[in-house]
Amino acid sequence: MPHVVLKNVSKAYGRVKAIDHLNLEIFDGEYLTMLGPSGCGKTTTLRAIAGLIQPDEGEILFDGKNIVDLPANERDIGMVFQHFEIFPFMDIWENVTYSARVKGLPQNKIEELGVNALKLVGMLHRANDYPDELSAPELQKIGIARAIATEAKLLLLDEPLGALDLKIRMEYQHELRKLVKKLGLTAIHVTHDQIEAMNISDRIAIMRKGRIYQVDTPMNLYYKPNSIFVCNFLSNSNFLEGFVEQVQESRSIVRLRGFGPKIIIPTTQWPVRKRLVLAIRKNEVAFEFEPSFEKNLVNATIIKRHFMGSRTIFQLRLENNDLFEAEILTREIPKDLNSQVTLSFDINHVMSFEYPEKLDYELALE
Ligand code: ATP
Repeated sequence: MPHVVLKNVSKAYGRVKAIDHLNLEIFDGEYLTMLGPSGCGKTTTLRAIAGLIQPDEGEILFDGKNIVDLPANERDIGMVFQHFEIFPFMDIWENVTYSARVKGLPQNKIEELGVNALKLVGMLHRANDYPDELSAPELQKIGIARAIATEAKLLLLDEPLGALDLKIRMEYQHELRKLVKKLGLTAIHVTHDQIEAMNISDRIAIMRKGRIYQVDTPMNLYYKPNSIFVCNFLSNSNFLEGFVEQVQESRSIVRLRGFGPKIIIPTTQWPVRKRLVLAIRKNEVAFEFEPSFEKNLVNATIIKRHFMGSRTIFQLRLENNDLFEAEILTREIPKDLNSQVTLSFDINHVMSFEYPEKLDYELALE
């Protein structure tokens, strides 16, 4: 409990379609993250599930029952926000047990819920302190404890770790996921941080302009994106235009535009002459020193170099004048500007997409 389904849910603010005929299923006990650029409708979706806004159309089902007209306080949901919304005039204990007290639960039940929730986040020893005595990470834990103490089985989290430093965020992601799994909750988490989404989720829903582009496991989204947008959003890739020249038994050969180099792709799904966009991740490219049969090999000239510490970003020009970027381990032999190099990258990791109507639109991260 619970299993959540959104069917054809829409919400507009004037002419802005904040959510546009959105369909999404979140399984019982699942940790699902909604990820997408700013303004794509993540928070609006979460608020619709919470009952804080009423959709213009569509159904929201909890365990098969349409709850779209049910008031927020009857939906049995725990919520955690980026801006903690902890009452400053109440101590930590009063904050965490607030919902149980408002519901009028018996004193021993309130005690049990408050103690368990604070223990789970390791903050029982701070029960008598006031919020202004706590640090941002500690307050975040209190926000989570307060949501858990509602006993709700559905947890909605809106950028819950957004106020934390990068360094402790990773640790909290791990803790939060562990807690949700331990308590058998269903969690719907909103973030615009890809690494957080990858680290914490069973599945991620990638949103753009009020719609869902793809819902899948972090690994599948990364290795098998269904669109140029998802590929670009989740990985730092080169996107190159080409045409299918030959279809072989299990692979095809694509010639980059302007009589450019030939690239082998690991699929036979496209017919000869099909116009494609190939995506090659910048961090999967290396300088080739020994010929290798399982790799694509492409000649290029180095035009710029940016030292980034452990990695150096090289800007290169291919033989057809296409620009290309490669993020190469700095300890791999340094190369001079204007020198000719052979780049290599795994055939199996080249992704291919049908050339879209508007490539610029697909590549825009908004
Ligand atoms: P962010 O990551 O920046 O929080 P988001 O993906 O959560 O963005 P939403 O906050 O859901 O996006 O907003 C989706 C769209 O709806 C945006 O264009 C936003 O400006 C608009 N919007 C959201 N709430 C309102 C509102 N109350 N009134 C008018 N427009 C709104």
